[in-house]
Amino acid sequence: MATPLTNHCIFCDIIKGAAEVSVCYEDTEAIAFMDIQPVNAGHVLVVSRQHFESFQDLPKRLGTHLFEVAMELAPAIRKVSGADGMNVIVSSGSAAGQDVFHFHVHLIPRRQGDGFDVRLPFADSDMPDRTVLDMMAARIIAALRDPTRARPAAREVAAVA
Ligand code: AMP
Ligand code: ZN
Repeated sequence: MATPLTNHCIFCDIIKGAAEVSVCYEDTEAIAFMDIQPVNAGHVLVVSRQHFESFQDLPKRLGTHLFEVAMELAPAIRKVSGADGMNVIVSSGSAAGQDVFHFHVHLIPRRQGDGFDVRLPFADSDMPDRTVLDMMAARIIAALRDPTRARPAAREVAAVA
């Protein structure tokens, strides 16, 4: 279900033709345009035409389509920007750094030493004991099986006896 538009949305303005934009791809469900403040030249945003706030609000089929569009665009962006690599980033929720609350996928062409940092593993985190990782995996598997969860089951990991 689409999130109601409570606040002004710049991406909805763009989609209805009420704001400046440099479009590099469009179809009936998706539009891709140049980020107004690119990390590097060729930084593109893949955006759903319909307003959904974040990753968890997105219908699965639409999410799949947006990532297909991203996969189609990535080699073309790499080619024209002469990039050495690319970050494909979704920030979902303000705690994750989302600024524009209309779902979008960033395609960010990268060059060695460009100074942008999304480096993993995170230098400030430790490597937990395997039992801690196993426990978290088991909790996620249980959550996937929860009949009250909103989305239908994804392909689940086979139960470990
Ligand atoms: P996020 O933090 O993932 O929500 O990123 C929002 C992105 O939208 C930022 O990279 C902004 O530079 C970009 N942005 C904001 N306004 C516009 C606009 N009018 N046209 C194109 N990109 C925009
Ligand atoms: Zn919007």
